[in-house]
Amino acid sequence: MRTATSSFRLLEPRSLADALRLLRDEPPPVPLAGCTDLFVSLNAGVPTGARYLNLWPLDELRRIRARGDVLSIGALATFSDLIRSTPVRTRLPILAAAAREIGAVQVQNRGTLGGNIVNASPAGDSLPVLAVAEATLVLRSLDGVRRVPFSAFYTGYRRTIMRPDELLVAIEIPPVEGRQWFRKVGTRAAQAISKVVMAGVRAPRPRIALGSVAPTVVRVPDTEAVLASGGSIEEAQAVLQAEIHPIDDLRSTARYRRRVSANLLAAFWRQTGPEEQRA
Ligand SMILES: Cc1cc2nc3c(=O)[nH]c(=O)nc-3n(C[C@H](O)[C@H](O)[C@H](O)COP(=O)(O)OP(=O)(O)OC[C@H]3O[C@@H](n4cnc5c(N)ncnc54)[C@H](O)[C@@H]3O)c2cc1C
Repeated sequence: MRTATSSFRLLEPRSLADALRLLRDEPPPVPLAGCTDLFVSLNAGVPTGARYLNLWPLDELRRIRARGDVLSIGALATFSDLIRSTPVRTRLPILAAAAREIGAVQVQNRGTLGGNIVNASPAGDSLPVLAVAEATLVLRSLDGVRRVPFSAFYTGYRRTIMRPDELLVAIEIPPVEGRQWFRKVGTRAAQAISKVVMAGVRAPRPRIALGSVAPTVVRVPDTEAVLASGGSIEEAQAVLQAEIHPIDDLRSTARYRRRVSANLLAAFWRQTGPEEQRA
């Protein structure tokens, strides 16, 4: 049953400091960014809380800028912002590629990178990109700032290390050396949640991450090690099968996800390899 939104209170902070103060209330309000995930929960009748904290007007959390080597992306940057951003397209083109495949234009205009991360779905399309980019997440509370490696953020299915009084304020991306690769496999190009999503960086130490094949987005270090040491793609595909744990659900089957993951790995390796091997 739908949840009646008329019973909810929307708090309107005037600044980030104000928002952080409101998050110290008991119980803390639920942060609301683009609302594209929250609204789905509300529409499905999931009571996610009676008080919401509207982050949308906090423009200070929307900036994208290159600070020396580091690309800093405000948590409120929308997918449309990422698609249009020259620093993103230049430094991390696979993030713009992932953004282009999220929902359709309406969702890209409202959905934020921060919301995709904190929502913590293993199918979030930006997550494998942030995993291979070895991003750092910047969390703020009244106590100060915590910088958390992306690899340490998720603790289980839809669980994170974030505290209720913290906000994700920015995502920091170090320089990414090597050829970048991204592929989403879904039922159709737009408005489809991933059956499998993969990002890779072809470097002497290759980096590979997959979504929708385990309770959280996963890096696959054993598979990476096989490829780094010159093992064959067939060996790497066999090792990959032990590193992922897909399930059957309404979007796909575990068997299909295993097969597609192996195929994506081969495509990544072929398409980022020497010119004559690319198909
Ligand atoms: C039609 C449709 C299609 C979609 N297609 C895709 C798709 O193809 N791929 C995909 O990955 N996703 C998809 N989504 C899901 C959604 O659009 C994304 O996950 C989006 O990034 C969520 O961002 P948001 O700003 O709307 O988050 P919200 O809904 O506002 O919030 C999501 C969660 O994050 C928390 N939160 C948000 N921002 C912060 C912050 N800065 N600090 C702390 N907590 C925060 C909220 O409290 C909430 O728990 C789709 C959704 C819809 C409705």
